[in-house]
Amino acid sequence: MILLQNVFLNNKLCDILINDNKIAKISDKISICADEVIDCTDKAILPSFCNTHTHASMMFLRGIGEDKNLQDWLNQEIFPREAKLKPEHIYPLSRYAILEMIKTGTTCFIDMYFHISETLKAVEEMGLRAIIPYPGMDFFDEKEADNRIKKATQYLNEAFPNPRIIKALFCHSVYTCSQKLIQGFSDLAKKYNTYLQIHVSEMQKEVDDCIQKYGCRPVELLHKWRVMGPKTLFAHAVHLNDDEIRLVKKTGTVLGHCPTSNLKLDTGQMSLQKYLDAGLKVTLGTDGVSSNNSLSMISEMKLAALSAKNKANSVSAGRVEDVFKIATQNGFEAFGINAGEIKEGKLADFILVNMNNQFLLPNNNLKSNMIYAADSSCISDVFCDGKPIMRNKIIPHEAEIISEFKRVCADLSA
Ligand SMILES: [Zn+2]
Repeated sequence: MILLQNVFLNNKLCDILINDNKIAKISDKISICADEVIDCTDKAILPSFCNTHTHASMMFLRGIGEDKNLQDWLNQEIFPREAKLKPEHIYPLSRYAILEMIKTGTTCFIDMYFHISETLKAVEEMGLRAIIPYPGMDFFDEKEADNRIKKATQYLNEAFPNPRIIKALFCHSVYTCSQKLIQGFSDLAKKYNTYLQIHVSEMQKEVDDCIQKYGCRPVELLHKWRVMGPKTLFAHAVHLNDDEIRLVKKTGTVLGHCPTSNLKLDTGQMSLQKYLDAGLKVTLGTDGVSSNNSLSMISEMKLAALSAKNKANSVSAGRVEDVFKIATQNGFEAFGINAGEIKEGKLADFILVNMNNQFLLPNNNLKSNMIYAADSSCISDVFCDGKPIMRNKIIPHEAEIISEFKRVCADLSA
């Protein structure tokens, strides 16, 4: 048992008892003989973040191919560099990404990358949560689709008894994957009662090409292929018309909003407020650092709020409470994880922030300060599943993780 003493929760001082992996009790004063007592004077507790769309191992691509459009950026800069990646690079790259996520207050991420056993190992060691999907991309090669479906089935069949990790599936997009692969993965996800992630309608060209090839828009196509549902996440989902919004709502499909990446690659801005008003389940993600260029959900919240206002032409769009919720509670809820709020009975995933940090004063509205003013310098501690994964800004093995990452970057740029 861990007892947090004198911590600010919703502007009131209280004590919080962590028992096993849950928030057991919240009260003005708790008198109990705990294994550890943490003095939280001048600290506030907030739920940690859930980053619902990223490509963790793209860390080595930070700052590459700046100011190019999405097609040139991918084909000229990203794909040739990714072709050099070997499985042994993925573990150090994943560890470095996780280091950045923990420092910026994230305790759960949904990845989309390759050589996933290496990422699984990094997640297990560093103590956070993750949804790790088996990769699906076949470039319309039927044999490759069969091969992927077979290997994905093996992946889902292998026992993996870590409650912090959920095995899932991803298909890259309708412009890189065949109907056979997408429907095969969707059927598998249903059979194994797990999640499927896919990039959808990130750019207008994708929509236009889909209409030309299939005679309908991407969301309509995925609905026809029976891919949509509450366990399917559409990453980006920028260009949806009203009929598609209705399909997303009707099927309970989850959306992963990536405002920084969309603005940086100039692929359009999601109508966040319109989607929220329509009752869609929107979550927040950073995308990879190659198009962000950080994994900080704090920066992502600011862009989500600002781009929502700009897109709606209204200051009342992208409200503080809503933006904070899409970055925390909505993400955990979408993946059936009982976290994202500081309440008794919830999983103990949270951050402690220093209320004397320059960005958090004056404390008129803590969530607003977190969205519009703060950076990760205010975060002192991060807990996941009841255990500290950063204490007083220290993450175990940090120096080694950094030196290994630098070695891999040098290797890949050689
Ligand atoms: Zn992506």
